[in-house]
Amino acid sequence: MVWAVKMRQGIGVYEASERIQAVTPVLGPESVLLGEAAGRVLAEPIFSSRQLPPADNSAMDGYAVHSADLVDASEGEPVRLPVVEEIPAGAGSSQRLQPGAAARIFTGAPVPEGADAVVRQEDTRSEDNQVWVTVSVKPGENVRDAGEDIQLGDQVLGGGDSLGAVEIGLLASLGRSMVRVHRRPRVAILSGGDELVEVDGDVRGGRIVASNSYALVAACRLLGAEPLYLGISEDRPESVEEQFRAALDSDCIVSSAGVSVGDHDHVRPVLEKLGCELDFWGVRMKPGYPLAFGRFEEAASGVAGRGPLVFGLPGNPVSANVSYNLFVRPALLKMMGYSTCFRPVIRARLMESLRKKPGRMHFVRVILENREGIWEATSTGNQSSGALSSMTRADGLLVFPEEAEELSAGDEVLVQLLGDAPAGEMALGF
Ligand code: AMP
Ligand code: MG
Repeated sequence: MVWAVKMRQGIGVYEASERIQAVTPVLGPESVLLGEAAGRVLAEPIFSSRQLPPADNSAMDGYAVHSADLVDASEGEPVRLPVVEEIPAGAGSSQRLQPGAAARIFTGAPVPEGADAVVRQEDTRSEDNQVWVTVSVKPGENVRDAGEDIQLGDQVLGGGDSLGAVEIGLLASLGRSMVRVHRRPRVAILSGGDELVEVDGDVRGGRIVASNSYALVAACRLLGAEPLYLGISEDRPESVEEQFRAALDSDCIVSSAGVSVGDHDHVRPVLEKLGCELDFWGVRMKPGYPLAFGRFEEAASGVAGRGPLVFGLPGNPVSANVSYNLFVRPALLKMMGYSTCFRPVIRARLMESLRKKPGRMHFVRVILENREGIWEATSTGNQSSGALSSMTRADGLLVFPEEAEELSAGDEVLVQLLGDAPAGEMALGF
């Protein structure tokens, strides 16, 4: 009954997004090997148990010296110093450098006690155990001070920071072989419909491939979530129920199709039967009106408040993808511990006029081109919700506000950027 009332008018896009984010949990922490931690989000701040660099060390291949010895050194009157020691990287220095002497030193090697600078090899000439220095150096020159990068006890990363390549490198240099990060959501992916087959299935007789499932599995992988592919259910309540039961111990269920009002749409009654609490059905947007969102209050294991979120996405491939990007992706990122969960939005100049009826927010697939620092947005053409090919060409989704009826060429518009692939240019570009 409640379901029937809510589905009549639908809710707005902002409200849908807020309601989803409000009930989406941040998943608890787990410890992982540093080598497996890329793309994860820290569940704890990291304090340094070391100083970096660990000791004063040489930034150059050359000679460790007392700078005071070289005040008068020049090309014409080089200063001669005996070379009393050789210190390669990785070796410790055994003795204090006395005034009037030099130590051969290599990049990264610890500067011996007593020395206060390093002369570059290029500014010297050497013979036997002596070196002629042709320049003067300032105290501290070519020396990297102990702790100049990180001090013992410094907070180097915060809880909530995501781990990219440089963060992983930093943690490695601190000797952190394990880190506490937020768990990755296990996302159950379901399709339903008697017309659907797997990718290598027989498509004669009006069948189509359940392409949404493949796209959703890929999207989860690219995001760093853990997809669980649960196949295709038939248009029978028992089959749909069996599939949903298999999904109950996940963190998030993403089902495509079967949530409309057709006689063969069994998803909603099955969800109700299994105890899913529907939050809303229908969002005033196009494409993607028939979106259902709810959650199980209790996990399959009986833990209260821990059941999976449920997204019933529309079946049409474009609608499914747009709804995924707007609603599912931010929820998965929040679960993973990200605080920046939404795709970036840019301002662009519309290159054509667009019309629609008021009452729904439209997301128009557009191609973006940067002309002299200004983004220009052109529609990809066919905006049918079945035309997935137009989605592959789209750089972003233009936001055509709910009540607006017309946008004119030249108008400034907002475009949410799409794309999973790393951004790239054909050449260096500078
Ligand atoms: P429905 O919501 O079941 O009425 O489906 C709406 C449209 O989406 C129909 O044309 C379905 O064939 C199509 N569809 C449903 N599920 C999928 C899927 N997993 N992959 C691709 N298309 C689908
Ligand atoms: Mg169907």
